[in-house]
Amino acid sequence: MRTIDQVGAMQAWSREVRGRDAARIALVPTMGALHAGHLSLVEIARRHADKVVASVFVNPTQFDRADDFARYPRDLERDGALLASAGVDVLFAPGADEMYPPGAQTAVSVERLAEPLCGAHRPGHFRGVATVVLKLFHVVQPHVAVFGEKDWQQLALVRRMVRDLHVDIDVVGAPIVREADGLAMSSRNRHLDPVERTAALCLVRALDAAEAAVAAGERDAAVLVAAASAAIAGEPRARAEYVSLVDAESLEAVTEVATPAVLALAVWIGRTRLIDNRRLTVPAVHRERRSA
Ligand code: AMP
Repeated sequence: MRTIDQVGAMQAWSREVRGRDAARIALVPTMGALHAGHLSLVEIARRHADKVVASVFVNPTQFDRADDFARYPRDLERDGALLASAGVDVLFAPGADEMYPPGAQTAVSVERLAEPLCGAHRPGHFRGVATVVLKLFHVVQPHVAVFGEKDWQQLALVRRMVRDLHVDIDVVGAPIVREADGLAMSSRNRHLDPVERTAALCLVRALDAAEAAVAAGERDAAVLVAAASAAIAGEPRARAEYVSLVDAESLEAVTEVATPAVLALAVWIGRTRLIDNRRLTVPAVHRERRSA
């Protein structure tokens, strides 16, 4: 595996691989502190391309709180070893000055999709995400890019940006990878002490509660959100930031589960903010019964 930290060198590598070898390149963008969720993205990337580039860049412009940026876990040596053994061809790990040239003043803003959910609570976050993702696309020049469904809003926004700006890259979504007890893997899980780690299970309990209610025939968004919220309220160390049922694509709030919807939540466990989500769809058998 080659490690590249300069934009020019990364672009030169991609030009060569695309030209001389006519190879397909897949990009897996990450902020490092890698876990099995990230490695599942690499695995999917390998199925879509001949060469895989993984980026590790803790993007300053997407952090709305300085303390979150400062304490975000960084472990490039370990990340490199994991990516090499996962079969990654290039680790692209630029510094912030490399990604943001001095005097940089250009940004990308995907408008309505950035408003609800995390966007409502993290000012500027998705502007930072869209900007860095488009930069990475221009630097790595991949044919395909893989993003996790764990960050559902981010994935929806990247898909929208690619469509709106005619970016010639296929965006592939990857399922959420969970710990054995159901907690969605996240670099931020490292911040949880053992008591908080147990408390964090209220996120998956909330999603399970809503899913079980849908399976039992419930469709009303307010009832489903209440069921999920109750699971979080039952955990003294947890504080819900939002619990919302939205259309899976537009991310607009829905009043009932009819078209594919996503129950999305952000929850503070102590000083750590965790997100998770689940697609909720009406089982086919119920749809038939309803229309009969
Ligand atoms: P991050 O390093 O947190 O910015 O995440 C980098 C990529 O990995 C994003 O596309 C995330 O959605 C994805 N990702 C993070 N955690 C998971 C997970 N548990 N399962 C699947 N994908 C994930």
